[in-house]
Amino acid sequence: MAKDCIFCKITSGEIPAEKVFESEDLVAFKDINPAAPVHLLIVPKVHIPTLNDINDEHAVLIGKMFSVGRDLAKKANVHENGYRMIINCNRDAGQEVFHLHLHLLGGQPLGKMVQPINP
Ligand code: 5GP
Ligand code: ZN
Repeated sequence: MAKDCIFCKITSGEIPAEKVFESEDLVAFKDINPAAPVHLLIVPKVHIPTLNDINDEHAVLIGKMFSVGRDLAKKANVHENGYRMIINCNRDAGQEVFHLHLHLLGGQPLGKMVQPINP
């Protein structure tokens, strides 16, 4: 556990969150400032600061994050209309919490996330 990491504190139960899933290596909870009607964060218990820090030993863990996201999308009943899963890395992506997390967003049209730079 990293000192002063908010998501380490949530995954360990030291501070509360609206948890919707927990396993031995992952926790999922509602985003405190949702950007869509369904906005969940799927978070490994191990402290990995950014996508730059993942390695082959995390392959199964990363796979599980997406499988849990798929299951939670179905549970939230957004799986047919659609949803988005994203991981922000560092400044240009607007990463605010430096503990790896997968956003699951859905429940409304989400708009185009990737725009052409030369429209
Ligand atoms: P990032 O910009 O790092 O990809 O996303 C961080 C997300 O974590 C933001 O959407 C923000 O609302 C959410 N967040 C930050 N602090 C907390 C917290 O203490 N509890 C919960 N549930 N979500 C948080
Ligand atoms: Zn952490």
